Amino acid sequence: MLISGTLSKMSVTYNFAGKVALITGSSSGIGAATAILFAKSGANVVITGRNAGRVSEVAKQCREVSPKGLKALEVVADVTRDEDLQRLVDTTIKTFGKIDILVNNAGAVAGGAGLSDNNYINGFRQTLKTNLDSSVMLSHLCVNHLEKTKGNIINISSVRSFQTAPNYSAYCMSKSALDMFTKCMAAELGPKGIRVNNVNPGAVKTNLPQAAGLSDEIAQTFYDMYGQLYPVGRYGLAQDIAHAIVFLATDESSFMTGTTLLADGGHLAANVAFNPANLKK
Ligand code: NDP
Repeated sequence: MLISGTLSKMSVTYNFAGKVALITGSSSGIGAATAILFAKSGANVVITGRNAGRVSEVAKQCREVSPKGLKALEVVADVTRDEDLQRLVDTTIKTFGKIDILVNNAGAVAGGAGLSDNNYINGFRQTLKTNLDSSVMLSHLCVNHLEKTKGNIINISSVRSFQTAPNYSAYCMSKSALDMFTKCMAAELGPKGIRVNNVNPGAVKTNLPQAAGLSDEIAQTFYDMYGQLYPVGRYGLAQDIAHAIVFLATDESSFMTGTTLLADGGHLAANVAFNPANLKK
């Protein structure tokens, strides 16, 4: 899902001039909104995803909002391929000379499958590769660069790291493991001057359900149901999460590391237990 007009109106109170932000999954949804907000705040941004057309479209939007018209770096890459991740880092360093902020945001939900289903293991492996392995591998490839800049890693997890969802165990496990990776790395990398934090969103209207095979109509039903159940009375928008992510990269959050920052409209506080497995495709 590309970004509508509301995003370019996001108010800016951040200054990332001279900083380099690499955001995975920035061809759509939360990653695109985050890249646009960093660009609007003066950063050089790296836009990446598998879909070349969407990567270019978001890069164009970043340049349009950049105060100095900075050109975003476009890298078409699949985060499940180690060689693509190496190329992503190498191209970023070649282009900008450094990395200040790594946002591990690329993610997917494999279609619902229970443990006894034939396709469970394939979905499990693909989900863990996309949501967890890629974040670990990319952090590994970036850590020496981040030590030089005293940088930040921000991992995008989910309320599902705290809450089960029948037939979506692979997704829940991938996000729980990501939370623990964040905490371990915060402890390990703090002495190197690197902060590591998570943002854990609730339901946010993006292309995630459609990427998992749901129709537009079912996806909207899904969001509307959450909107009604959430204490804030609405579902989330990509820019809600972008602001939480960008805040974690500011100096103002310099006392925060190892955090799992909920941006969930009150999902967990209200024990919202809507089950996505009940949705028909
Ligand atoms: P979108 O489907 O809109 O965006 C997902 C992004 O991940 C796209 O840019 C996609 O790029 C990229 N991506 C997926 N698989 C790969 C891959 N193998 N290689 C490279 N890029 C990949 O969804 P969201 O914006 O909602 O998702 C962003 C993150 O937020 C995910 O980690 C998700 O789990 C998390 N999240 C989302 C919630 C929501 O309700 N939307 C709730 C909680 C967490 P491309 O298609 O170009 O490859």
